[in-house]
Amino acid sequence: MPRGTVRPARDLCSDCGLCDSRWVAYVRRACAFLHQRFERMEAEVHGRSRDLEQPDELYFGVFRRMLAARLEPALDGAQWTGIVSTLGARALEQGLVDAVLCVRQSADDRFTPEPVLARTPAEVLAARVNKPTLSNNLSVLEQLPGSGIRRLLAIGVGCQIQALRAVQDSLGLEELYVLGLPCVDNVSREGLQTFLDSTSRSPETVVHYEFMQDFRIHFRHADGHGETVPFFGLDTPRLKDVFAPSCLSCFDYVNAGADLVVGYMGAPFGWQWIVVRNDRGERLLSLVEELLTTRPVQSTGDRRQAVQQGIEAYDRALRLPLWLAEVVGWFVQRFGPTGLEYARFSIDSHFTRNALWLRRHHPDRVEDHLPAFARRIVGQYRLPTE
Ligand code: FAD
Ligand code: SF4
Ligand code: SF4
Repeated sequence: MPRGTVRPARDLCSDCGLCDSRWVAYVRRACAFLHQRFERMEAEVHGRSRDLEQPDELYFGVFRRMLAARLEPALDGAQWTGIVSTLGARALEQGLVDAVLCVRQSADDRFTPEPVLARTPAEVLAARVNKPTLSNNLSVLEQLPGSGIRRLLAIGVGCQIQALRAVQDSLGLEELYVLGLPCVDNVSREGLQTFLDSTSRSPETVVHYEFMQDFRIHFRHADGHGETVPFFGLDTPRLKDVFAPSCLSCFDYVNAGADLVVGYMGAPFGWQWIVVRNDRGERLLSLVEELLTTRPVQSTGDRRQAVQQGIEAYDRALRLPLWLAEVVGWFVQRFGPTGLEYARFSIDSHFTRNALWLRRHHPDRVEDHLPAFARRIVGQYRLPTE
């Protein structure tokens, strides 16, 4: 079946790849955009669903422990310090799994993802760094039958992991480990170009970028020089429609179904943020823990006023002049939320925007599509009424 032929979620499809495999047969109950099943997924994977009365679980999902960590020395060319790729490589070296599902770049474009079932540590390391575009990860499930792979480590973002969890019992695997990445605001390859063109001074030379905890976007260019742009200076009118509809209706920012999550947003600037959700997550982390410098997570500031102001500014598609964006950025960086409070800032900002988007573009889906935890988070704010 040619890729992309079947897409029951239509415009909301994130191209997770399930429909390009024989497991398309399960799409009605597996697709994150046709059927939300957070509570059931959490209960099946972690033994219970998240406790909505527990403030950290409401935001970050079921967890055993959280920490901030850095791989030292950092893995050259990784997105942050390379904890994810190092862990994937060690899972193969130490015989925990037979293969790692990860995403390398296509031969002719740094930002075009190419999912792969890596069988050697070198292949996992070659897949380091984000390809910040929608990736067809689950299409490689099609290669499982007859491959001899019995134990798999899957690395992926929330929508991919939701679908994977829904079909995992029918994959014929003895063991499945899941290393999740937090994810938000993903784009198609064309959407990425619009973003780069409107944000960077030299879009054609960007090789790496990240939205960081200092409220700036950090670009790295091919010659090694860096460029930073304040969030508040983004060309909101032009960028409002750049994100994929799937991502404008997604509430799985923190990858609720993963065993272990490795991101950055709950950690201080320069550090990675690790969330261990269950025993399998502990097992995964133990592969690299001796290589990490760690510190406890922390949280300072109060995000709420900034989130409320951001909802109104975004809705009116305001664009600040660069000098003002720099001044706002300077204040927020010094006095704004840090650590877990920064993560809550980002979750609140995206969930309110997405709830509004869903209400306007798919009013009939709001009831089904907004999970209980997101409903509660969004309920803390005033949303525009029209
Ligand atoms: P590396 O060792 O460099 O490994 C990166 C891994 O990412 C590789 O294993 C690769 O297989 C995988 N990967 C690359 N592109 C994709 C893709 N498109 N889909 C699925 N897997 C992919 N963290 C946050 O805290 N907040 C965010 O808002 C956030 N947004 C993200 C958005 C996207 C699209 C992606 C891919 C990641 C995002 N992350 C976010 C995670 C973060 O940017 C880092 O990937 C993570 O901290 C791991 O860093 P590392 O240096 O350990 O990874
Ligand atoms: Fe199929 Fe995945 Fe798209 Fe849903 S998101 S329609 S499962 S490819
Ligand atoms: Fe998938 Fe959500 Fe990330 Fe979009 S934002 S790629 S829907 S996890």
